[in-house]
Amino acid sequence: METIIYTIDKDHMDMEKINEAGAILAKGGLVAFPTETVYGLGADAMDGRASQKIYAAKGRPSDNPLIVHICELEDMDRVACHIPESAYKLARAFWPGPLTMILSKGENVPLSTTGGLDTVAVRMPSHPIARAVIKASGTYIAAPSANTSGRPSPTMAEHVIEDMDGKIDMILDGGKVGIGIESTIVDLTGKVPMILRPGYITYDMLTGVLGEVCVDKAILSENADKNFRPKAPGMKYKHYAPKGDLTIVEGTPEHVAERINALCTQAKAQNKSVAVIAARESAGKYHCEHVFSIGSRRNEESIAANLFAVLREMDELHVDVIYSESYYDDGLGQAVMNRLLKAAGHHVINADDETFVGGE
Ligand code: AMP
Ligand code: MG
Repeated sequence: METIIYTIDKDHMDMEKINEAGAILAKGGLVAFPTETVYGLGADAMDGRASQKIYAAKGRPSDNPLIVHICELEDMDRVACHIPESAYKLARAFWPGPLTMILSKGENVPLSTTGGLDTVAVRMPSHPIARAVIKASGTYIAAPSANTSGRPSPTMAEHVIEDMDGKIDMILDGGKVGIGIESTIVDLTGKVPMILRPGYITYDMLTGVLGEVCVDKAILSENADKNFRPKAPGMKYKHYAPKGDLTIVEGTPEHVAERINALCTQAKAQNKSVAVIAARESAGKYHCEHVFSIGSRRNEESIAANLFAVLREMDELHVDVIYSESYYDDGLGQAVMNRLLKAAGHHVINADDETFVGGE
């Protein structure tokens, strides 16, 4: 299949191209487009056969449900039912924006879109291109991240082209996305709202609107990947992993730098190519040929925005071994650490642990 690639300026959208994208979606085709979080791979959420094509293009397991994207608040009632008051409160506070709500599924949403579940994930994105494409399609759009399943999510059209060229009908290139990490997912079908995936909308922001909110323990723990059926089914799959072997090194900054440098020396002695992922403030401490500054610890948003692109660069360099510093795990940092821990398969070393004798 030849993939059409169009560049779209989000401030001066070429509506002919947007309408062409909408028409492809309305006919059951696949279009990748930017959202404020990451690039999405869209299909008509209300057409079971169209959403099945997403699974094939991504190589995504069919029990991993898709998020349904809408462009007006009224659309929530068309894809979900028994909607609690909390959903309207959150929608007023954070939509359009990077928040996904799990609600009871509306009858007309096919089970192949929700991975067989009787609940549906709904989000109203704020990115002008995403909104225009949904509107032009005249339907609601299932859109997971536009990457091959297991790879880091795409934050630039180049990433989408890498994974999807030749497999989908169209890619809309709207430049680098703003946030760089997928939406926060909150489940509103239980007694207490529960965060299933951390994202840009943080725990504090949600409790500010709803009062009590709980957090799925799976978010920062390894068990999430081992449970047979966690609350958010996608959590059990390997995610974001670079091809090289990624390890997170946590602890006091001096110990982390010492330990990573020792590990780099050791890997080089074994003829392995090594890369280090570090915050801008500490990147200068590492003696390694490939040191990636991921952003500033004083600005968590910069770390979130660069994370996936840096993980993809590791693959381009074909490094064997990667060591990363650890980042704060509160606020937006919780979303960053959730993705980084998954990418590392939860392989974490504590540099303050003195039993290290150089043989890890
Ligand atoms: P992605 O679109 O790739 O960011 O992944 C969407 C994720 O949303 C899935 O992997 C699930 O973890 C979550 N999700 C979607 N629908 C549901 C649902 N009905 N119940 C729980 N989690 C869901
Ligand atoms: Mg994804």
